[in-house]
Amino acid sequence: MANSVIIVGAGLGGLSTALRLSHKGYRVTIIEKQSNSGGRLNVLKKDGFTFDIGPSFFSMSYEFKELFESIGEPMPFEINELDPLYSVHMTGNSRVFKIYKDLGKLADEFRGIEDDFERKVRKYLKGAKEIFHDTEYKIIKRNFNGIVDYAMSMGRVPLKHLPSVFRTFWKELELHFDSEEVKIIFSLVAFFLGATPFNTPSVYKLLNYTELEHDGYWNVKGGMYKIVDGIVGLLEKKGVEILYNTEILSVQHEMGRMTSVTDQNSLKHEADLFVVNADAAWFRGKFLNRKKYTVDKLDKMDWTLAPFTIYLGVKGLIPGIQHHNYFLGDNFRDYADTIFSSNLAPERPYYYVNVATKSNPDAAPDGCENLFILCPVPDLRVKPDWSDAEKLSQDIIEDLGKRVNFDIQNNILCKVVYTPIEWEKMFNLYRGSGLGLAHGLSQIGGLRPANKDEKLNNLYYVGASSHPGTGLPIVVIGSKLVTERILDEHKTV
Ligand SMILES: Cc1cc2nc3c(=O)[nH]c(=O)nc-3n(C[C@H](O)[C@H](O)[C@H](O)COP(=O)(O)OP(=O)(O)OC[C@H]3O[C@@H](n4cnc5c(N)ncnc54)[C@H](O)[C@@H]3O)c2cc1C
Repeated sequence: MANSVIIVGAGLGGLSTALRLSHKGYRVTIIEKQSNSGGRLNVLKKDGFTFDIGPSFFSMSYEFKELFESIGEPMPFEINELDPLYSVHMTGNSRVFKIYKDLGKLADEFRGIEDDFERKVRKYLKGAKEIFHDTEYKIIKRNFNGIVDYAMSMGRVPLKHLPSVFRTFWKELELHFDSEEVKIIFSLVAFFLGATPFNTPSVYKLLNYTELEHDGYWNVKGGMYKIVDGIVGLLEKKGVEILYNTEILSVQHEMGRMTSVTDQNSLKHEADLFVVNADAAWFRGKFLNRKKYTVDKLDKMDWTLAPFTIYLGVKGLIPGIQHHNYFLGDNFRDYADTIFSSNLAPERPYYYVNVATKSNPDAAPDGCENLFILCPVPDLRVKPDWSDAEKLSQDIIEDLGKRVNFDIQNNILCKVVYTPIEWEKMFNLYRGSGLGLAHGLSQIGGLRPANKDEKLNNLYYVGASSHPGTGLPIVVIGSKLVTERILDEHKTV
């Protein structure tokens, strides 16, 4: 009889682990508190509009290819490379910067702003590329057996990268570029993860390499939720059962083994192995009472941004806006210094706007536009009260309308707002943190909550707050690592 596995959570981490394990012959059941799969990679349908609620593009597309190749199936959705990657609107600057992977074209965007840009950016990306490839297999794509193993692996990262650990990301940008515009735009990749470039190590520049040179950004034809539809279709073929509307509220274990998980109806679910796709740090504290993950300790950890998201169905087509856009103010340093530590909603918010209809007209009725707006805000530790949500959403909509010269306010056909409170409730995201634990040096590799439980030998973890980290392709890598570990440690299928 095959080993049975229960996976708690049908986020991308849980779904891709289920694919790999079922392919290897394990009997897999997924238990999900929501009424559908996908977790943060989810969909909202309202009044004829279809919104992707969270992720809207991804890097490292080859990780998805690897996932489907590993189970001998074609990719069940079609991906498109973004070109340009995104546009950036800055207050007080009439120019809209289009960010291209083609560095010659990108240099044209910064003409008259950053002298000799192409030479400088090539030099900058060369260093970023080295960090990426020197850490990819030593830190990201491998399992660690304890802290010593991790320390040894770190020891194999070339010493020349040491200054990147002690220098801030902003300082690194200052060493390469003169203009504020280039420095701000290059730090967006970290800023929208909730990491301000002023107190984040410069190793973050590897993200500039992934976007500008390596594999760029991709999205999915027909919308991001096609990823979930595609995987769930394959899981059905493989006989994986998914129990929806089922929330695990306690766990049982004895003699170093997890024996069952119990849902809100007091029903016990037993299996040989368990994989937790809920937040790996929160779960250890809440259900296993681990001292390292008490609420006090969790609150002291570094968490990524809390999202404030607005979904708007708008009558009319909005010119002057692309599929992926950032709207920034003229006070980046002040804004970055206060935004994540203030208990007030931002006054002149910085936000990202995704207009899915620019690439996928089916996401809205004819002649309408589908807007998803994401504004990074303080999490619920800092700002627990969101009674001012309506004002913040109005401020953003008004600002956006002015900047794209379109009366959005009077053409809204449908509107939904999620504050960090909703994000926390929907998927058990700790304090509403959108992407889980941050990736500072003390929370990566062997220092991140491991994908194998410290005490229970049949309990594993996959997903954003576990190793190797957050973001769609990284979570897919996580599913590969946890599967390798399970195959290694429980060979009898
Ligand atoms: C607004 C936003 C925008 C983002 N944009 C991008 C982007 O553009 N590109 C990108 O690569 N990444 C993006 N991300 C990050 C990305 O969404 C995550 O890294 C990824 O989806 C995490 O997947 P996961 O499987 O770890 O977790 P989740 O998606 O959170 O899945 C965990 C699942 O477990 C379920 N669960 C939790 N507790 C229980 C329980 N007790 N019982 C049963 N079920 C439970 C939850 O309901 C959920 O379905 C974004 C995230 C957000 C919030």
